[in-house]
Amino acid sequence: MTRPLDRLRAAAAERESAGLRRALRPRTPDHDGLLDLASNDYLGLSRDERLVEAAVRAVREWGAGSTGSRLVTGSTRLHAELEDRLAAFTGAAGALVFSSGYLANLAAVAALGRGGLIVSDAGNHASIVDACRLSRARVVVTPHGDVEAVDEALAERAEEHALVVTDAVFSVDGDLAPLRALHETAVRHGALLVVDEAHALGVVGDHGRGAVHAAGLAGYTDIVRTITLSKSLGSQGGAVLGAPEVIGTLVDTGRSFIFDTGLAPACAGAALAALEILETTADLPGRARLRAGELAALARELGLPTADPAAAVVPVVLGSPGLALSAGALCAELGVRVGCFRPPSVPRGRSCLRLTARADLGSDDLAVVRGALTAVAELTMLPELGDVAELR
Ligand code: PMP
Repeated sequence: MTRPLDRLRAAAAERESAGLRRALRPRTPDHDGLLDLASNDYLGLSRDERLVEAAVRAVREWGAGSTGSRLVTGSTRLHAELEDRLAAFTGAAGALVFSSGYLANLAAVAALGRGGLIVSDAGNHASIVDACRLSRARVVVTPHGDVEAVDEALAERAEEHALVVTDAVFSVDGDLAPLRALHETAVRHGALLVVDEAHALGVVGDHGRGAVHAAGLAGYTDIVRTITLSKSLGSQGGAVLGAPEVIGTLVDTGRSFIFDTGLAPACAGAALAALEILETTADLPGRARLRAGELAALARELGLPTADPAAAVVPVVLGSPGLALSAGALCAELGVRVGCFRPPSVPRGRSCLRLTARADLGSDDLAVVRGALTAVAELTMLPELGDVAELR
């Protein structure tokens, strides 16, 4: 019989040889002196004095923790205010705050999909994949961006109710879902559409009100949105945006809402300050999108496989995990921290660097990125790396 820890060691050795080990490296406050193109702080708000002050005020008034689940002692005036402000900002009928975007997705998809059919895009975030499993609904995974496949799955269903779920901006590929076509299809088949705005809120649309708002769909009550407070809003936490019937269902039956401790007051305070900044600074999201376009243009100019970014996420697809790791290390040596994504975060053969633009990047920063990406392009030209050429 294999002893439990021996089994874990053997599995770790297999991951090691496949280039799939992961290392936890605590960073310094200044990102180890590197230019940060790896975080999701798209608007550079996480260290903004206004957010920091709001968080400190919230801690002084309410304490370091929220002290209980939302339905017991974990709801404060800040939580209620944040829900009102999020709904007003995004044009939604209502909002419900969670302690993370991951938990918001778990509740929305599992509670609303239970007992029916869930149609989920193949590129959806892991939290949606996990939510589908948790729902115990029948799940059909459709090819990325394929509205016809969604239509077919809905048409062929035996289940009474159905949910279509998609990222608005896909978390690694950075592209935008065909939201209007998906909504039209969902409506035609009497299905709810759930859109995860994690990478769109704060970056896409007027004042960063998100992709659903930008598509003119904010007023539809058959669309449910999930968001995170931990990317462009510079705080931490998540929320579900939707009709009162949706919010009520999640309060009554959303397990990751009911059984989780409420969002920390500091996070609610900081998110409120971030919303105030977004309401009053119209050009911040546009600046992040502009910088993303510049990063993608730079990669393309150097012959690196990339895609047109819909928001702040810019992928550079390299293929093998080993190559992505080497390229990520090279970028760090040359002063730039980038994300390095390997399976299971991406499909096999799609390991990549993930660059995230920030509104506060300057031309000096872009010069540093040029140096790093030039070295990555040279690395991919090495003869033994044929798999990159195939991906171009
Ligand atoms: N959805 C998407 C598309 C994400 O990328 C993430 C975070 N990586 C989440 C949900 C989860 O959000 P949070 O980090 O707030 O748990």
